[in-house]
Amino acid sequence: MTATIGLQHLINGAWEDGTGSPVASSNPARPAETVAHGLQAGGPDVDRAMAAATAAKHGWARTPAHERGLVLLRAAAILEQSASALGLELAREEGKTLAEGEGEVLRAAQILRYYGNDGDRAAGSIYSSPRRGETIMVTRKPLGVIGVVTPFNFPIAIPAWKIAPALAYGNTVVWKPASTVPLLAMRLAEALQSAGLPKGVLNLLIGPGSMGNSIVDHPALDGLTFTGSTGVGRNLASKAAGRGVPVQAEMGGKNAAIVLSDADLDLAVEQVMLGAFRSSGQKCTATSRLIVADEIADDFLTELGKRAADLAVGDPTTPGINMGPVINEAARSSIQQGINTAISQGANVLAGGTPYAGDLAAGYFIAPTVLELPRDQNQDVWTQELFGPVLSVRRTGSTQEALELANDSEFGLSAALFTQDITTALSAIDEIDVGILHVNSESAGADPHVPFGGAKKSGYGPKEQGDAAKEFFTHTTTVYLRGGNNVSR
Ligand code: NAD
Repeated sequence: MTATIGLQHLINGAWEDGTGSPVASSNPARPAETVAHGLQAGGPDVDRAMAAATAAKHGWARTPAHERGLVLLRAAAILEQSASALGLELAREEGKTLAEGEGEVLRAAQILRYYGNDGDRAAGSIYSSPRRGETIMVTRKPLGVIGVVTPFNFPIAIPAWKIAPALAYGNTVVWKPASTVPLLAMRLAEALQSAGLPKGVLNLLIGPGSMGNSIVDHPALDGLTFTGSTGVGRNLASKAAGRGVPVQAEMGGKNAAIVLSDADLDLAVEQVMLGAFRSSGQKCTATSRLIVADEIADDFLTELGKRAADLAVGDPTTPGINMGPVINEAARSSIQQGINTAISQGANVLAGGTPYAGDLAAGYFIAPTVLELPRDQNQDVWTQELFGPVLSVRRTGSTQEALELANDSEFGLSAALFTQDITTALSAIDEIDVGILHVNSESAGADPHVPFGGAKKSGYGPKEQGDAAKEFFTHTTTVYLRGGNNVSR
């Protein structure tokens, strides 16, 4: 039996108990087991956190970027040292396997390191002037107080990739994580606070979804970065934009993998499996649609169905388990409902499809499911994000049709293409309308030093990560700089 951990909020540099209603996270593999519990932040806590972030913003913005970076580097070291313990907590609270949990903690540390070193990179640019004696300089300044609202599915890496650049570029933060994963949020805030953040620079409030609205509606807000579902993201983005507050929103996906007949099929089947079923399919970039060339479809789908059925599903903290549960009962029930609807609309089940009985029925488990859809027939499972281990499949007679099917979505986050033909790959780069395209690798990989984000309805505002983050977390001042006397002209 593992001890339940007490949850606290971070406001103005002090850890405190909440003043709102009770909140608890539970283990989705064994829902009766509470992982962490406490009281939610109360309404007045939003005002207090925003006031603390406002009071801290001038001093933090004036702190040399190198010094700000040192705090992030120390926090990265703290996460690295505790990666296995935090990885276990992540697996217990979110349901990822132990290896994925530890990997995510290390990814968060990698992101902190990337932005921790940013203070030693270029801080602006210089242009020549058409006038004698003048130089034009473009400097960057932080926005101010950033509201950070994050989803459950990467409880430490996604917050890190928002909070690290926000802080590195001199902003202060009020952060509301998803209430299903408060413990990992507390762990990231603890690492940053222990690393020496001045009081008020980072404030953590654990609360319900409605608290996201309170942050967005707050007059002290200077910028909002959100990741989560499309409906919530659009609503928050429209509120912020309506008040002239810059907003960055990363939302849903319905990501396709295309397997053409000239692909390395061993590689393709391995990568499609990873894309569809790692993290129980709960990645915004997970592969949820598969488009397979007619010539190879029978063999490919037989192998894929067999591998999906062979995945070891169970408690993600047990060695040898490939896939854990989904996050909660609401997710399990809506995903299973989506599967049932697809079957009633004519989908052919190649793997999974039915709810578990026995031990697994007690946790929020969904069987890895592969559904082949009838040709030329629109299905909800093809268009709507289920956010679980469900892969819908369509066969295709031509490369052109495959590319069109990949684009057949209101979303445009990521895609994967499997081919050994460079001409096809080059044409797909032009044709497939997504923010992230993988050629011969799964749809769900992302590195911290390059832009991340979606096209079409998947993303709104500047991209995240790498240099792209600077576009959101700073604004520019263009300085026309001349000497103070006429001699230089
Ligand atoms: P969610 O939209 O339910 O919650 C995200 C955050 O918004 C949480 O902090 C939540 O408490 C808050 N929230 C919920 N309802 C709210 C409301 N009415 N008003 C204000 N705030 C509210 O999303 P989730 O279930 O935590 O995450 C899964 C979703 O996130 C999926 O749609 C997935 O595709 C998306 N996602 C996108 C990316 C990306 O980069 N594009 C990455 C990860 C997840």
